[in-house]
This record gives sequence, structure tokens and C-alpha cells, in this order.
Amino acid sequence: MKKYLLFLGPPGAGKGTQAGLMSQASQYLHLSTGELLRKEVDLKTNLGIQVKEIINSGKLVNDELVLEIVRKNLLKKNKGWILDGYPRNISQANSLNKVLEDINQVLEMVFYLDVNEEILVKRLLSRGRADDNENTIRTRLNIYKETTEPLIEFYRDKNLLKYIDGDRELKIISDEIKQNMAT
Ligand code: AMP
Repeated sequence: MKKYLLFLGPPGAGKGTQAGLMSQASQYLHLSTGELLRKEVDLKTNLGIQVKEIINSGKLVNDELVLEIVRKNLLKKNKGWILDGYPRNISQANSLNKVLEDINQVLEMVFYLDVNEEILVKRLLSRGRADDNENTIRTRLNIYKETTEPLIEFYRDKNLLKYIDGDRELKIISDEIKQNMAT
């Protein structure tokens, strides 16, 4: 059974949903950097106050700030973890490698959830989060294409990438992910 996993894909692809399901079934930590950052915003912490505007504009939060949150959470006692929404660019992927080396853990599989843009926009518009308005969605999709998409090749080169067609029923997708985790 694989223990150290990562979900990659555009906003609205279902990473959070699938990572949440997997984490419930396996008791692995679900580490969504978006969720962790939104929690800071809700709690009005120093960090939350710093990042609120950036999140609401759809831009990426500074790499160092996000790395600190990720590092802190990876150090928590766990049976495994599922990263969701991190890394978002090559620099974050390299930082993640370094942290994992430090703590002697090895990323075992990257699930790439693929969904086409038209469906993504529809899904995001129906979700109703503070950063789910039409302008912000465009920004997020553009940033995804420019800075996050190169990670597909990055992880394919490392033989970690597992392509998942994300435009199917939720249960069919989660069954396929489960099967891959079991091997
Ligand atoms: P998400 O919930 O993954 O869609 O993330 C929501 C927002 O949080 C993003 O649009 C970014 O502003 C911020 N965010 C989440 N993860 C990261 C990350 N790895 N690097 C930088 N910003 C992030």
C-alpha cells in the first residue's frame, strides 16, 4: 500500500474531493495547502492577513510561506499523507524533494487528474468559494497552465505520474485511484 501521495491537476479537477476520500479510507493526513491557507485567513492569523488578498485574487502565495506550512504538517505524526495543491511550480517541487530527503520519506505516486477547461469553469462557478468568480477563475487557470502544468513532465520523468481521466463519475475515479494505491 502506498503511503506518500500527491494530487496534481487544474483548479476544479476534483483533487480535494478525491484526496479527502482517500484520506478517510486510509487515515493518511490530507494536506491541502489551499485549505490550510484558508484556515489561516478565517482565523485572522498574521499569515492569514498577509495572504487573504492574494488568495482572493487567484494568484499564488509566496513559495517560502507555503513551504513553512507544508514542512510543519509533514512533520506531524502520520500513517501516510496525501498532498493536494502542493507543489504548484517547479521551485516548490524541488523544495518538497529537499524536505522529504530531510525527513527520510519518499513520494511514491502522483495522481494527475485531467479535466478539460470548459468543464472546469462550469464546476468552479457552481462551487461558490470566495475565489470562485469569473475573473479569478481565469487567473487561476492561466497560472495553472504557465507554472503548474510543467510539473506533469517533471513527475513523468521521475516515473511517478499516474494519469487519471477526471471527467468521470466520482466513484469510478476513486476506485481507480484505490487500485493504484494498493499496488
Ligand atoms: P486551492 O484550494 O488549491 O485551489 O488553493 C486556493 C488558493 O490558495 C490558490 O489560488 C493560491 O492563492 C493559494 N495556494 C494554495 N496552494 C498553494 C501553493 N502550493 N502555492 C501557492 N499558493 C497556493
